Amino acid sequence: MSQHKQVDTLVIGSGPGGYTAAVRSAQLGMKTIVIERGQIGGVCTNVGCIPSKALIAESHRYNLYRQWSRSGASDFFAEAQAFKQSVVNKQSGGVQYLLQTAGVTVLEGEANLIDKHTAMIKQSESEQLISFKYAILATGSRPIELRALPLGGRILSSTEALALSHIPASLVVIGGGYIGVELGQMYAKFGSKVTILEGGRQVLPGFEADLVAPVIKQMNIDGMTVVTEATAVKAEQDADGLTLHYIKNEEQHFVRAEYALVTVGRRPNTDGSLGLERIGLPTTSKGLIETDEQCRTVIPNIFAIGDITDGPALAHKASYEAKVAAEVIAGQPSVVDYKAIPLVVFSEPELASVGLSETECTARAIPVVIGKSSFGINGRALALKATEGFVKVIANSESGMVIGAQIVGAEASTLISELTLAIEMGATVEDLAMTIHPHPTLGEVIMEAAGNAVRKISKNK
Ligand code: FAD
Repeated sequence: MSQHKQVDTLVIGSGPGGYTAAVRSAQLGMKTIVIERGQIGGVCTNVGCIPSKALIAESHRYNLYRQWSRSGASDFFAEAQAFKQSVVNKQSGGVQYLLQTAGVTVLEGEANLIDKHTAMIKQSESEQLISFKYAILATGSRPIELRALPLGGRILSSTEALALSHIPASLVVIGGGYIGVELGQMYAKFGSKVTILEGGRQVLPGFEADLVAPVIKQMNIDGMTVVTEATAVKAEQDADGLTLHYIKNEEQHFVRAEYALVTVGRRPNTDGSLGLERIGLPTTSKGLIETDEQCRTVIPNIFAIGDITDGPALAHKASYEAKVAAEVIAGQPSVVDYKAIPLVVFSEPELASVGLSETECTARAIPVVIGKSSFGINGRALALKATEGFVKVIANSESGMVIGAQIVGAEASTLISELTLAIEMGATVEDLAMTIHPHPTLGEVIMEAAGNAVRKISKNK
C-alpha cells in the first residue's frame, strides 16, 4: 500500500457532477482529489450527451448529403463514428485541462469508503488510503437491465448502440423515453428500419401530447414504427438477428430486428463496493441518496450530487448541484433551487421544457394564461425550412410572472435558455414581449408568444 494522502475534499466520480465539483472546490482553495474508475468526464462525455449529439448531428448531415451524393451510407457512417470519437476525445481533454489548471489531483481507481473520513482507492496493482474532511459522491448511473432481456449479443444498451461499427438494417428500441427516441431517430435517419416499443400511452412520457405530436409526425416521415402500451417479454437471438416478443392488448406480437436497444432508464451507482452501508449512509428503494437543499447527506461531511440523487438524471442538474456542494463545503451559504431546470430532447424537431407545464398548473390550481406562437409565421423559420412547432409561455395570470415554457421546433435546445433565465430572474411576460429580439431570428417566436399572453392578461383585467 502506498502513502496515506490527506485532502480537504475527496470527489468520487468525474462526470459532469464530479469534475465540476472538483474544479469549484479547488478554485475555492480546498485541497481536492477526484477519483475515477472509468473514463474522465463520466457518462456524459464518453457514452452519453456528447457522443449521442455528435452522431445525431451526423445523421442530419447525412440526410442532406445523400440528396447530393451517390456514395454509400456505410462510408458516411464510418466517418461519423470517427468524428464522434474525435469530439469525445476533445471534450475529455477539455475536462482534464480544467481539472489540471484548477489544481485538482486526478487519481485513476475505484473508491471504496472505509469510514466517514477515509476511502480506499483500488488501482490495478496497488491500493492507497485517502483521508478527507469532506466527500462529494458523484458516482452517476448505469443502464437498467431488464430481466427478460439481459444485455449482451444483439441486445444493446445505449453505450453499445453509440459504438456500432455499421448501420443496423433494423433496430427495435425498447423504451420510448428521450434516449430511445434520440437514438432511434438517429439510426432511422441513417437508414435503419426502426421500431420503438413504449409501455406508456405515448413516446416521451412526461411531455404533453401537443408538444410530442410534431416529433411523432417526423418519426413517421423517417419511416419509424411506434407501438405504444407494449411490453417486451422475451428475445430469441439467432445468427441474423433477433425476434423480440411483446404484449399489446393482452395479445402476443413479435418484431424481427438485427439488434434490440434497451433504454428503460438508469440505475444509480450506489451499490457494490462503494461502501455506503459500511459508513451508515442509507439509499431509497430506487437506490438514490437523499440530500438536503445544500446537497448534504445524513452524514454531515458527505455530500451527494447528480444521477445518484433525486430529480432529473441530467448533466446540467449534476453540475449545478456540484457547484452548490463545493461552495457549501467552503463555507458559503449556497442552496439548490430547482424551479428552472430545462429538459431537452434532441429529436427532430427538438423539444424543450422548463418550469411548470399546463397540466402541473391545473393540478396545483395556479391561475395561468398561456401565450402561444408558431414557427410557421416566423421569417427565419421559413428561410430555414423549419416551420414545424411552436413556443408556449405559461404565466401566472395575476402577477404575469413566467412560470413555465415549452418549445417544440428548430433550436428549441438553445431557445429554452431565454425562458429559463426569465423564470430564474422572476421576469414577466411583458418583460419578454418588450425585449428587443433581433430580426429575423427564431427567438422572435418567444417574444410573440409572450405578447399573446400579455394581451390575454390585459383583456381579463
Ligand atoms: P456520471 O456522468 O455517470 O459519472 C459518474 C462517474 O463516476 C463515472 O465515470 C464512473 O466511472 C465513476 N464512478 C462510479 N463509481 C465509482 C467509484 N466507486 N470510484 C471511482 N469512480 C466511480 N444529460 C443531459 O443533460 N443532456 C443530454 O443530452 C444527455 N444525453 C444522454 C444520452 C445518453 C445516451 C445517456 C446515457 C445519458 C445522457 N444524459 C444527458 C444524462 C447524463 O449523461 C447524466 O445525467 C450525467 O452524466 C450524470 O452525471 P454524474 O456526474 O451524476 O455521473
